[in-house]
Formats: sequence, C-alpha cells, structure tokens
Amino acid sequence: MKIALFSNKSYTERFFTQANSRFGHEILFIAQRLNHHNASIAQGCQAVCVFVNDILDKRTITALAKNGVNTIALRCAGFNNVDLKAARDSDITVVRVPAYSPHAVAEHTIAMILVLNRKIHKAHARIREGNFSLKGLMGFDLHDYPVGIIGTGQIGQVVARILHGFGCRIMAYDPQPNIKCIELGVQYVSLDELFRKSYIITLHCPLVPETHHIINANSISKMQDCVMIINTSRGALIDTKDVIDGLKSRKIGYLGLDVYEEEADLFFEDLSNEIIQDDQFARLLMFPNVIVTGHQAFFTNNALQSIAQTTLENITDIEQNRICPNLVTDALIVH
Ligand code: NAD
Repeated sequence: MKIALFSNKSYTERFFTQANSRFGHEILFIAQRLNHHNASIAQGCQAVCVFVNDILDKRTITALAKNGVNTIALRCAGFNNVDLKAARDSDITVVRVPAYSPHAVAEHTIAMILVLNRKIHKAHARIREGNFSLKGLMGFDLHDYPVGIIGTGQIGQVVARILHGFGCRIMAYDPQPNIKCIELGVQYVSLDELFRKSYIITLHCPLVPETHHIINANSISKMQDCVMIINTSRGALIDTKDVIDGLKSRKIGYLGLDVYEEEADLFFEDLSNEIIQDDQFARLLMFPNVIVTGHQAFFTNNALQSIAQTTLENITDIEQNRICPNLVTDALIVH
C-alpha cells in the first residue's frame, strides 16, 4: 500500500523504514499533524498512519475518504482521537496497536511513583548545587501501601505485578476485572471505594465519555489527604483546573503526568525558545510536588520496534483481505 505517515519524527522514520524492509509498502513520511486542512496530502495513498495527537474528526475523515484513503492505521493503543462513526460511514477501516509494550508504560508509571515519593527530581538538582541537606526529602515505604489502579488491561496489569513486587496493598476498579490481577491478590472495589482508600491512584483506563475528567473536584474531595495521582494514560482523564485546586489546598500531595489534556499544542516539539501560552500548564510546572514528562511513557526501543512491526502487519492484513486482529470497533468501548 501507499501510506501517508503523519506526525513523523526522525525516530519514527528510522523504525518504520527498518520494519518495512519485510513488507515493501511505500511510505510517505510527513512531519505535520493530520487535520482536515492538510488531509489532501494523503491523496493517492490508501492508508494513513497516525499518532495520538493527529485529529481524525468527521471533517478529516470525510476528506481522507474523498482522497481515496480506505485505512486509518493508528500507531498507538488509544483511539480517542478518531471519530469511529465517521470512519464507518466513510467505509474506512481503523486499526491500532493494542499492545506494543505494556512494560514500557508500566515501568514509566513506577518511575514517576518512585521519583515523587523519594523526591529524586529535587535531590538531583540540590546535589548539583552542593546542597547535601535532606530537609524536605523524606519519603515513605511502598511496602504495605494502599494503591488504587483504575483500568487493569494490558498496562494496568503490569503495573499491578510490579507494585505487588514492592508489597503494596493493591485495589482496582475496572468494569471488566482481570483474572490475572485477581490471581495476584488485587482486590476489585467500586470507584468510590478506590478513591476513598487509595494513597496512590494510577490511571490506566482509556479516554471514553465515562472516564472523561474522572479525576475532578468531586472525586478529589473523596480522596485521602496528600494523595498521589499518576496519569500515564490520556490527559483528559484529569480536570486540570480541579487538580490545580487540589494541589493548592494540599489535598493532592504528589502529581505525576505523562499526558496533559491540551498536550497537542506542546508535546513532541522543542519549544525551549518559545513562551508557553498555556497558563494552566505553566502553573502545574510551578509546584514542587508535580513532575511532568512529555508523553514519553511508550518511548522505548522495544516499543518502537513493536509499534512499527504491528502497524505494517495491520496494513498488510487489510491490503490482502485477511482478518486483522487489531481492528478498532465500537465494541472496544466499555460502557
Ligand atoms: P487496555 O485496553 O488493555 O486496558 C484498558 C482497561 O481499561 C480495560 O481493562 C478496560 O476494561 C478498562 N476500562 C474501560 N473503561 C473503564 C472505565 N470506565 N473505568 C475503568 N476502567 C475502564 O489498554 P492499555 O494497553 O492498558 O492502555 C491503557 C491506556 O493507556 C490507553 O487507553 C492509552 O490511552 C494509554 N497509553 C498511554 C501511553 C503513553 O505513552 N503515555 C502509551 C500507551 C497507552
């Protein structure tokens, strides 16, 4: 197939070019993010390959269909940026990479928990200035600590396994409990109970209408004082304004974000010489107990290889009319 790959970066091109030696597709690498204004770049291509911040709303999809595109290949797990109904109406098949390396995201989640708990970010900066004081750096043992996991699919399950190794007391909420987590001793509870009892809450559910702003003023009010919240899933799971209020009142004691609701205007670009216009984001960076990474949880060598391989396999399945195991359909949305 001829594929227009949007939101290209040098590392994306490297891994896709390597993997494509086995498939022989023709790939057009395009740095721009896809939206309805530039969809015509895909003219003459049968597939577009897109990432988390490409905008595949109805207008984009209609324009893609007009230009002969029949496949949207997401090179990520989440598909919240695709209007699935519009794709169906335009006879466009949507495929994704449901699991490329759950370990990559899970391990980044754990890194955030450890950095925040042991204040590694502050200690590192302090030592470089010759300040060896321990004041303000006290942490807590994770052993026997109550942790709540929201969403125990591929990633949440690995997070549970690692936290089990630390000896945490793990509870979880998921409309479809995971047998492997139950076997591990994870206790499934209601969302309300998870909010009330967890000292650390980590989000691993997809962004769907039911989970939009699942962390908001109301849910925060139920949480333990000084709770730690980690989001490596999707930005809009969190109401940023409410979380800032929670940090200011010290209800939230630690916040680790790899994703941000308005990240599309910030992440994946070098803006070090620009003035950040997003005041909420700038406010988040002012807190000493907040760490932010720019949607890098997936970013391991292993994950990128796997993403390129599976994406090109998905496209080949569609091209050769084989059943593709990674189709995105409405059935994937849990209500
Ligand atoms: P998955 O589909 O394997 O698991 C998601 C789980 O969430 C499922 O068990 C599902 O039942 C559960 N769920 C659905 N609705 C829910 C709800 N209302 N409340 C609680 N749980 C609910 O997905 P995954 O591979 O584990 O990925 C999870 C999310 O992580 C993705 O949706 C994606 O947004 C995000 N992600 C982020 C990165 C990153 O680099 N930061 C990388 C990959 C994935």
